[in-house]
Parts: sequence; structure tokens; C-alpha cells
Amino acid sequence: SASGEEQYDFIWKIVLVGDSGVGKTNLLSRFTRNEFNIESKSTIGVEFATRNLQIKGKTVRAQIWDTAGQERYRAITSVYYRGAVGALVMYDITKTMSFANLGKWLDELREHADPHACIMIVGNKTDLKHLRAVEAEEGRALAERHKYSFMETSALDATNVVEAFNNLLVDIFKIQV
Ligand code: GDP
Repeated sequence: SASGEEQYDFIWKIVLVGDSGVGKTNLLSRFTRNEFNIESKSTIGVEFATRNLQIKGKTVRAQIWDTAGQERYRAITSVYYRGAVGALVMYDITKTMSFANLGKWLDELREHADPHACIMIVGNKTDLKHLRAVEAEEGRALAERHKYSFMETSALDATNVVEAFNNLLVDIFKIQV
């Protein structure tokens, strides 16, 4: 592009994981294009999107991979995780099952991802206050137990979206640089 986006010091792959419907695609589109789509997606085929952030004076290009719906079919292959230095492991704060399933996603990450990958647990959809089913403290406690970081986000109203990626990239910076 002509935007200067091609200049960067580091390029890091980050994967989004979590149950179908937790908001992975919309977190990605909010962060990389400032877009939100209220309808369910048809993102089969979209593999990743990028955005550059300044981290400790360096330009870091986050290359963020979405499962493109494969999680519905338990068909996520090791190619998806290959080379990832970070992961956002997402649940929907209005869906206890998506929180209960985090263990499955963390097991999968431990099996396929680099052992040094930085992991952040993300509770999404904080705008749906009246439907909250998982308290922030539950998410935070789970993350602390595993020494992962934790944030709550809303892809809809953009709360903490840039902050979540920024915090993860700072963690990755400490490991990779
Ligand atoms: P994915 O299957 O994990 O990629 O989830 P999607 O990004 O496709 O989102 C699933 C549904 O939840 C869609 O209808 C989105 O519009 C909606 N959604 C995603 N993020 C949010 C959010 O932060 N707040 C609300 N209210 N809805 C969201």
C-alpha cells in the first residue's frame, strides 16, 4: 500500500481462539479496520489481517489470524498455530459455556503453539451488561492461575480492543526482543 504500512521492525503472528460466536472476527475487524458487523459472519477464507503499533519505540506489525469458522468443525490444524508468538483466548461474558470451554482451547494451545507464546484470556461483549453470566473476577482468577494476562473487551463499542492487543504485544516484546 502507499500508506507506509510496509515499514516495520518486527512482525509477529497472533492467533485468535475460542468458541464460535465469542467475537473473534469482530475483535479482529475492530482492531485492524475499526469495523463491526452485527450479523453472523461468512468469513470462510479470510485468514489474517494486520495492524502496526508502536511498542517501546519500535514499529510492530501484528499479523492476527482468525479461525475463519474452522473451530465449528474442530478442524483447526497445527498450521494455524505455527509461528504464533501470542494468542488471545476468547470467551463471551454472556455465555458460561464459552468460559467453561477455555480449558479445551488452552490444552490445544499447549499442544500446538510455541511454549513461549504469550497468552491473554479475553472476555468479550462487555457492552451486554444486562446479560453478563461470567464475572470479571472469574476470568481474572483463571488467568492468574495460569499466569496469563486478562482483559475484558467489547468489539461492539471498542472498549479495550486496542489496549488488549497493545498489552499482548508489550508482553511479546519482553520475550522476543
Ligand atoms: P466468532 O465466531 O468468534 O468469529 O464471532 P463473531 O465475530 O462472528 O461474532 C459472533 C456474533 O457476536 C456476531 O453477531 C457479532 O456481531 C456479535 N459480537 C461480536 N463481538 C461483540 C461484542 O463485543 N458485543 C456484542 N454485543 N456483540 C458482539
